[in-house]
Amino acid sequence: MPQRLDGTVALVTGASSGIGAATARALAAEGAAVALVARRADRLAALARELESAGAEALAIEADITDRARAADAVRRAVDGLGGRLDVVVNNAGAMLNGPIVDAPLEEWDRMVAINVNGLLYVSHAALPHLLAAAEREPRRCADLVNISSIAGRFANRGAGVYNATKFGVHAFSESLRQEVTRRHVRVSVVGPGVTTTELFGHQRPETQERYERMFAGVEPLEADDIAQTIAYIVTRDRRVAVNEVIVRPTEQA
Ligand code: NDP
Repeated sequence: MPQRLDGTVALVTGASSGIGAATARALAAEGAAVALVARRADRLAALARELESAGAEALAIEADITDRARAADAVRRAVDGLGGRLDVVVNNAGAMLNGPIVDAPLEEWDRMVAINVNGLLYVSHAALPHLLAAAEREPRRCADLVNISSIAGRFANRGAGVYNATKFGVHAFSESLRQEVTRRHVRVSVVGPGVTTTELFGHQRPETQERYERMFAGVEPLEADDIAQTIAYIVTRDRRVAVNEVIVRPTEQA
């Protein structure tokens, strides 16, 4: 039986667009109060208004989570602002800036490592004491940490080496943490999307964008809500069920 999230508090990073915004909507629809974390405050405020007008509780938290102190502060503000607890965290914020390794602009590598790895680690570190407390004390008696990786976190490809490295890292960290906290009923899950229509590809250099357009010509991409529904499925399972890893591809993506 699915368990709705009424009375729980969720935090979603990267909630200002794409998969994160869709996930915030999906978790709010399941009854969670949702903390929306990202840098674009206007987008977060608009989403918070939308969720509130649909009857949910939402809190916009502007934060650059590549900054360790700001990541911790974002978690603190979510807990303080939404009733002193945290049951679900979705580490979704990320960047993909692909291209050949040889002669790559190092600034792109730094940005990917900063958000895909460090941001996820900082938010996890700050959130875990609250997730463990929720699993011990709150009526649901479990909590969820969902990390968004990618197919690129399982299969390396030419032209995506550093993005691959960051997302493989997400899997390694998640599996180690899963073993550490699972007996305390914090479920750690990894979701690996295939190509999904969001703003992600648009941040890349034009030559990289053109390469992907050729690569995925004729493939109907996923919608952000397809991934959001997968996340909602994971976090609404009965306490005894931990869905540890899911890959979701567009049907036409080889
Ligand atoms: P978007 O570019 O639409 O979303 C990325 C989100 O990350 C934005 O909300 C952005 O918000 C946030 N973000 C980026 N940097 C920071 C930062 N320093 N601090 C806080 N938030 C930040 O792309 P997607 O929705 O596609 O990406 C979500 C996740 O899905 C990523 O981890 C991505 O790697 C993964 N993914 C996506 C796939 C796809 O095809 N779209 C495929 C596989 C995985 P803001 O700029 O406001 O800070």
